[in-house]
Amino acid sequence: MSDKFTGSFTQQEPIPEEGIEAALNVLRHGRLHRYNVAEGEAGETALLEQEFATYMGMKYALAVASGGYAISTALRAVGVVAGDKVLTNAFTLAPVPGAIASLGAVPVFVEVSDALTIDLSDLQRKITDSGAKVLLLSHMRGHICDMDALMQICDAAGVQVIEDCAHTMGARWRGVLSGRHGVMAAYSTQTYKHMNSGEGGLLVSDDATLMARAVMLSGSYMLYERHLAGPPPEAFENLRYEVPNISGRMDNLRAAILRPQLRALGRQVAAWNERYRVVEKGLQGTPGLTVIERPEEEEYVGSSIQFLLLDWADEQIGAVLQRCAARGVELKWFGGAEPSGFTSRYDSWRYAPAQSLPESDRVLKGILDMRLPLTFSLSDCDQIAGIIRAEVGTVYQQWAG
Ligand SMILES: *Cc1c(COP(=O)(O)O)cnc(C)c1O
Repeated sequence: MSDKFTGSFTQQEPIPEEGIEAALNVLRHGRLHRYNVAEGEAGETALLEQEFATYMGMKYALAVASGGYAISTALRAVGVVAGDKVLTNAFTLAPVPGAIASLGAVPVFVEVSDALTIDLSDLQRKITDSGAKVLLLSHMRGHICDMDALMQICDAAGVQVIEDCAHTMGARWRGVLSGRHGVMAAYSTQTYKHMNSGEGGLLVSDDATLMARAVMLSGSYMLYERHLAGPPPEAFENLRYEVPNISGRMDNLRAAILRPQLRALGRQVAAWNERYRVVEKGLQGTPGLTVIERPEEEEYVGSSIQFLLLDWADEQIGAVLQRCAARGVELKWFGGAEPSGFTSRYDSWRYAPAQSLPESDRVLKGILDMRLPLTFSLSDCDQIAGIIRAEVGTVYQQWAG
């Protein structure tokens, strides 16, 4: 097989026509700021929040400027202050430790297992050793840990859980939507996530005080009563004097684009999973390659796929990357010594104290990662899997033989 894949790993689908129409409507009336509404008008942002809260089955939702902003707002809302330690995943993306650092707080990294989820025994150990009272749990690349066990550990230790659901919007653990386990959960609507408004974020919670703080923090001024999915005015009574305005609202234009995408989310999830399963099936049984087993309790969203070349030498992995790239298949590697593109590793986040994470080092060295945009057809996915399988096989044989 010497064919080449010619699709683009960064090309998402167009915005649905309905979203384009709604966006044009906002542009035509000119009321883009969320609190700039005509008499009797709710505004696209307030409606998006209401619809997202309903979708999640939660009391409150808040739309903000980005996923990273949603996370830092959640950290502030639960009371993290400068100097506090915050537990988080060693395997995640830069905006996660970045959100912790933005408060002057200190990330404490927890090991990643070879299932690509947080290692629960290391979590238990780090809770005891660090004394941290908050876990920022990143469901990195959509892999969900045993949430029942995690909540048991955190509840017993009085650790509050904030969920980073940038890759699990629409996913579930044992039937419960991802983001319903912690005290607050953050989502991103940046172009490469499950809904696309260029940039954007959402925050959900059932806790009136936490959400009232988040609304004030996001820059509501005293207009919080215009939030259709916000806590009642009483929740703001004391906070209105205390909580700083750290401006980071979403605007009506982005919300207009997102509302039709939320209605289509179930369909999109099914489309991602169809593609994921084709690639997964194509990779199974490749010598030297470990496919990540997904637990039965997990209903994932296969918007990207990972596999492991565990304990391979750097040069071997480099050869696989190169050979796949030459055939049009872009793989990202978390084991690279230097941060590159969107990918960086805990040891390159040098604003955090240096930490030793041997289990993560082994796993990260072997992780290869690939997006599966919905512009790929099922036969594209089949072709991609074939290319990876062939190139991994060739390199494996060269070294083994
Ligand atoms: C994208 C992402 C974020 C941050 O979202 P932005 O909207 O880009 O700020 C946070 N966590 C993870 C795991 C992400 O992939």
